[in-house]
Amino acid sequence: MSSHTYNATGVRWDLTDLFRSHDDPAIQETLAACRTCAERFAERYRGTICVPGGPPPERLLAAIREMEALQSDLERAGAFAGLLYASDTTRPEHRDLRERVEQHLTEIGNLVLFFELEWLEVAEDAAGALIEHPTLAAYRHFLRQARRMRPHTLSEPEECLLNERDNTGPRAFGRLFTELTSSLSFPFQRNGRDERLTLSEILALSHAPDRDVRRLAHETLFQVLETQALVLTFVYDTLIQDHLTVDRLRRFPHPMAARHVANEIDAKAVEQMLAVTERNYGEAQRYFRVKARLLGLPRLALYDQYAPIGAEAPRSTFERAREVVLEAFDAFSPVFSATARQFFERRWIDAEVRPGKQDGAFCASPSPAVHPYVLCNHTGNLRDVMTLAHELGHGVHGWLARKQTLLNYDTPLTTAETASVFGEFLVFDRLLATETDPRVQLALLCGKIEDAFATVFRQAVLTRFEQAVFARRKAGRFTPDIVCRLWLDANRPYYGDAVELTDCYRWGWSYIPHFIHSRFYCYSYVFGELLVLSLYRQYKDEGASFIPKYIAVLEAGGSDSPESLLGSLGVDFHDPAFWQKGFDEIRALVERTEALADSLATQAGSGRARGAL
Ligand SMILES: [Zn+2]
Repeated sequence: MSSHTYNATGVRWDLTDLFRSHDDPAIQETLAACRTCAERFAERYRGTICVPGGPPPERLLAAIREMEALQSDLERAGAFAGLLYASDTTRPEHRDLRERVEQHLTEIGNLVLFFELEWLEVAEDAAGALIEHPTLAAYRHFLRQARRMRPHTLSEPEECLLNERDNTGPRAFGRLFTELTSSLSFPFQRNGRDERLTLSEILALSHAPDRDVRRLAHETLFQVLETQALVLTFVYDTLIQDHLTVDRLRRFPHPMAARHVANEIDAKAVEQMLAVTERNYGEAQRYFRVKARLLGLPRLALYDQYAPIGAEAPRSTFERAREVVLEAFDAFSPVFSATARQFFERRWIDAEVRPGKQDGAFCASPSPAVHPYVLCNHTGNLRDVMTLAHELGHGVHGWLARKQTLLNYDTPLTTAETASVFGEFLVFDRLLATETDPRVQLALLCGKIEDAFATVFRQAVLTRFEQAVFARRKAGRFTPDIVCRLWLDANRPYYGDAVELTDCYRWGWSYIPHFIHSRFYCYSYVFGELLVLSLYRQYKDEGASFIPKYIAVLEAGGSDSPESLLGSLGVDFHDPAFWQKGFDEIRALVERTEALADSLATQAGSGRARGAL
């Protein structure tokens, strides 16, 4: 079959449920109507929310409902502009539309900004009574969650000042980082030719089958980064100090606190989770030893971590990928498969690879009034099948949660991956069960394990590093040496003696965008992945009785805190045993890999085919 066959040609989404085209007059009409609505909203409610004793509950309810209706229309226009742009980023009319819509969204947002600020200013006891009032029961969580920012919000002029200064302050340093790292060029010799690679191209070589290529890519990556040591350290140092300053002004008790508020989680649960993760580093080292054996090496070096193992699965056409995902979803629940099927049949998915289309994959769930849309780029490899499962998992979640109103629709980061990673697991298990070639099984297992390590163990290492960096910054400005040392210190416990750390790896912190753009973000990955691993384990233990409870959690969207929503599944974030369940699932995968490696080694006979698996 030609590569054309694998590229999902013609699988494009139909956006007419939103608007007809980039010049559909209904877009402008919607935006104009939203602006009028926002102005009327401001006339009606400004100064009536923050009043002594708080507003009457009926008045607050009416305001919230009007706000939701307004936002829902804005989401529709915003989603259309964003999706159209993603489908072809090179068309000037798409760029124009997106910019125009974004401008409107900002301006209209500013008109109604007062509403939430006034709610934050309502006195504590009056607000408490409103939160508990039966009239407002449907918005209890929204009202409570908004108030969590109360102690950390400054006055309106102060907030405006910070916002404006941020563009030439922290955001400017962020842009410097992005522009610098994306302008770097990495000299590399391949097939006798001198090439200049970009950062993402040289990072991709960590998956190269040839060990020399991997080692050279690893060394070149860090050599080039080291030439930028001064700027990269300066940028990071400045942003850490900026974060500490803003935390002080906003009265956050510690550097992670702001992130915890947004994630609707408390520090104790996060620490518990990280501690359990560290206790399981041995599990990772056990896998690294198996992998060294499979590669025929006495010990794994850092640059061998992502070396390919086993035999690649045969490529799948998009039709085949669709079948695999729907079958796996159906075996779990017909609710899952029927929901996912709509994405194909009603053209809510764009899978074709074509010039100008946005890279990667995402699922957009703009609002309960609009169904979700999935974008992916299908080239036929196994990764693409898993991506399809992942994004359709998001799609199922977004579709099931449409029973909620807009303010109760979205989940925080910590639970945003509840259905997507679960969907991947369903498909992974099915592929593994139906695969007959043990070398392909091995590739499947190693791929899954390495994915899980990258989202669990590695992100825990990154979080520990950030904690150490913030703690150390209080003692004064950083030199590159201090940051490099803290980085290696955070990595050592994870790799132990199972992986040889290279000297150049001390620069491993210097290109990671999360440290620059979204501090303490990384633990959300650990949280999301472990949560799903635990839930998946629970599903296997409980069987069918788990399914309706799980679907009810998805249907609940963001209507309550993750803690109380998942409480219905017996999940307790403060119980180490809950997090350990996730690692039991990882251990089961590692054990399976070990057993498979043993049987393949026996088959291959001693001394022959070692390292060729
Ligand atoms: Zn996702």
